[in-house]
Amino acid sequence: MPEIQEQKRISYSEFKNWSECSYRHKLIYIDKLPYYSGNEYTAFGTAIHESCEEKLPNKHTDAYEVFEKAFLRELTELKQNGHELDRKLIHEMRAQAKPICEQVLPAIVEHFGDFEVFSIEEALMEPITRFNSYGKKFKGFIDLVIKTPDEKYHIIDWKSCSWGWNAKKKSDKTVNYQLTMYKHFFSEKHNIDPSNIETYFGLLKRTAKTENIEIFRTTSGEKKTNNCLSLLEKSVINIEKGFSIKNRLSCKYCKFHKTENCT
Ligand code: SF4
Repeated sequence: MPEIQEQKRISYSEFKNWSECSYRHKLIYIDKLPYYSGNEYTAFGTAIHESCEEKLPNKHTDAYEVFEKAFLRELTELKQNGHELDRKLIHEMRAQAKPICEQVLPAIVEHFGDFEVFSIEEALMEPITRFNSYGKKFKGFIDLVIKTPDEKYHIIDWKSCSWGWNAKKKSDKTVNYQLTMYKHFFSEKHNIDPSNIETYFGLLKRTAKTENIEIFRTTSGEKKTNNCLSLLEKSVINIEKGFSIKNRLSCKYCKFHKTENCT
């Protein structure tokens, strides 16, 4: 039986892993070693994403009910996979989700005024046409796109976090490139002029005392887009050629640190 060829693609998270440490990228994406495992924080992130996604187009949805259902599902799966659940943390998270669920729609209305939902969890699988991508397409999922009466499209990526992001993280080039890529490939997919597309991170803050939703805009002009795509090209070429090098500056939070896979 001929092998079914896997669609060649690169996502923002693959690119991010490569840019942090190309050796880690090799371990995860080429050697296929397990790296990502769930925990209470990822369960919370998935569930709160789901509740935001359902609330925006259906204003009468009980966002907290959606969260509860999804959170329970995620926690059940974690338990089935042998994860020992932290009951105290889960109890706190249930309370932390409430203000986020209550504030998400008012925060969007306050920021954008009148809007219509253009898409939710929109899949991107776009051919990379700017450079030789060796047949790789760009893969991504855009959490939310809304359209305002001035014909502008607003791409929003939800990020669950504790108190928020500091200025360093907000201006981090690699973090920002996620939205630069989404804007570029969304523009190509729909043939929309990039000047009519804005991008934002929507912070869903678990532990903030007030204002649990922060929507902050990031901009991607021509220069930033070109720099981002040049780096994407570099990653594609290096991955294709099988080049990888250990970046010891990225070891601190790497799960391979001091394991048999990367001593
Ligand atoms: S431990 Fe350090 S060098 Fe090894 S894969 Fe992780 S980030 Fe790269």
